[in-house]
Amino acid sequence: MPRRFGQHFLSSKSILDRIAEAACGERAPLVIEIGPGKGALTESLLARAGRVVAIEVDPYLVHYLQQKFREPIDQQHLTLIEGDVLKTDLAAWGPAIIAGNLPYYITSPILEKILALGENWTRAVFLVQAEVAARLVSPAGSRAFGFLSVQAQLFAHIEVLFPVMRGAFRPPPKVDSAVIRLTPRDAAAELKIADRAAFLRFASIAFRQKRKTLRNNLAPVYGKDRIDAIPEASRRAEQLTLAELAALYRVLGQAR
Ligand code: SAM
Repeated sequence: MPRRFGQHFLSSKSILDRIAEAACGERAPLVIEIGPGKGALTESLLARAGRVVAIEVDPYLVHYLQQKFREPIDQQHLTLIEGDVLKTDLAAWGPAIIAGNLPYYITSPILEKILALGENWTRAVFLVQAEVAARLVSPAGSRAFGFLSVQAQLFAHIEVLFPVMRGAFRPPPKVDSAVIRLTPRDAAAELKIADRAAFLRFASIAFRQKRKTLRNNLAPVYGKDRIDAIPEASRRAEQLTLAELAALYRVLGQAR
């Protein structure tokens, strides 16, 4: 039976505690949890955070959580939001730690949203597909390095903390997972990229067809003559470091 909303629930208390500890440290003032499900991670977060705001899209689970956490909700230790995280203003509560065992069908848009939070996130700890974790941390030159890696590495320092095998979930997903921690970082300033959105548009064009050369991907946008004149034209975007991509962007300018 297909699962609604990517629902795979974690049952191992020790894994849940390790995720909460990676998110909160000893103690944290405010944590936003994405997709609390039946509240397994929420419990570990509540033990370590002054306040937890949990956003759940499934009304059945929201109802379940309202019953389960009546006391912390009454005491405003827990705020339950029924809604789609992608449509929720995550800056509404001020700078926060973000945590969650993510619904895998929307991992990329969630990451994009967090990375765009600017001053309003202090750390993020997520359970994601192992393959996504590998892409996020992969260095330039490796096959896993792609647009997602560029996007994430521009705005965050990323660590893979520990693997979580599929058997730790009920029902088990088809893939293994890993816990990652993201810490805000402004690589754009270091790389002298003034307009981050324009740079990301350029990078998305450079990676449009990952196995093709920069010439193939960039010529339709910047013109063949300009691209033939750059020394990197016959390389692939995945072979360039973030610094080299930024340098190329500065030479070519914004995509029209
Ligand atoms: N945190 C729980 C756990 O670890 O057992 C559940 C994790 S489960 C992988 C993902 C959760 O995200 C589900 O409860 C699902 O209903 C919820 N979810 C899916 N799409 C969502 C969305 N767009 N906004 C908020 N929550 C969503």
